[in-house]
Amino acid sequence: MQLIDHYAEQLESLKQQGNLRRFTQYHQQGRQIEIAGHEMLNLASNDYLGLAASEKLREAFFDLTPISERVMSSSSSRLLTGNFPAYERFEHCLSEAFHGRAALLFNSGYHMNIGILPALSDARTMILADKLVHASIIDGIRLSSAKYVRYRHNDMSHLRQLLERYQDDCNFDRIVVVTESIFSMDGDEADLKQLVLLKQQHSKVMLYVDEAHAIGVRGVTGLGCAEQYDVIDDIDFLVGTFGKALASVGGYLICHPVIRDYLINQMRPLIFSTAQPPLCMAWTEFVFKQVQQLQQPRLHLQQISRYLQAQLKAKAYACPSSSHIVPVIIGDSQAAVERAQQLQQQGFYVMPVRPPTVPQHSSRLRISLNSMIHHQDLEQLLEYL
Ligand SMILES: *Cc1c(COP(=O)(O)O)cnc(C)c1O
Repeated sequence: MQLIDHYAEQLESLKQQGNLRRFTQYHQQGRQIEIAGHEMLNLASNDYLGLAASEKLREAFFDLTPISERVMSSSSSRLLTGNFPAYERFEHCLSEAFHGRAALLFNSGYHMNIGILPALSDARTMILADKLVHASIIDGIRLSSAKYVRYRHNDMSHLRQLLERYQDDCNFDRIVVVTESIFSMDGDEADLKQLVLLKQQHSKVMLYVDEAHAIGVRGVTGLGCAEQYDVIDDIDFLVGTFGKALASVGGYLICHPVIRDYLINQMRPLIFSTAQPPLCMAWTEFVFKQVQQLQQPRLHLQQISRYLQAQLKAKAYACPSSSHIVPVIIGDSQAAVERAQQLQQQGFYVMPVRPPTVPQHSSRLRISLNSMIHHQDLEQLLEYL
């Protein structure tokens, strides 16, 4: 048997289970996506405020940015010669928005989550993570030398039990509680107020919250659920990504200045990877400033999200969502793939999500709304569901 046959067999078995992944070729314009000549409304994008799709915004940015500032590579890590002024400027801007706390930038949200947790942890660290945290957080935990336990999804009484056990366990000096604010697959939310309360009741606890799906979308100025629930100052590690509503790429951490200095010394993906091009930094800062003003699209997104959630419930679908990420849970993988294909034929680009991304038997259509979508679009979609 050839060595390659092993991998071919694995692929074949994924295919049999309806779980084979592959790239698709498409063309995107505004809220539309075209695949093989077939135009659909894009209901799978993370461009929640329609900013990545906006040519006007790009034009405005390039008009403001002289060629001398359109630097396409930083040519090294920020600790060598990659620390361009664009980085420092944007971190300062973030810091001002987030109540003067320290800000640190990363090449991606994935880098951020696989880098921070291992840097923070040693064998005397306990990580308590929500059962449904993103794969990048799981990978961060695996790379760390911490002990870890997953608590039942959003189950604060389970978390409290674990906290009580490990607070008094002399094997541990610190406990890091890790959650997302809006969860990427169920579209539901962590109870940030309750988490902050639990942290205040347990002296060993530090709180790590990933706002990947909430930055830009929640809070009066788009700073995320932490702004919405007024807990910006109470979360030790407030992280997020610019790859979604912020129409760019990269990750950020809002933290204590000591943590920032510590990570610059300890965090491997920050130290050993070429920093993003300064041009990207300038663009992300430009978009971030715009996003703070976008109350109207945020409100619209909230309104259409609530409408879709309510209508799905009325049709007796299980709908855990309280956000713009609205899963329609089907169960069987093959059935989810077929339902997605039907909707696509009807002009709605909806993607099926299958294990291992979600738990076994919870395959789903993942509808991810954005502010370019109208009420009428959803009325039509609901007719087909
Ligand atoms: C998308 C996502 C990430 C990864 O961010 P990238 O910038 O795309 O690497 C991390 N955490 C969560 C919860 C996400 O949804």
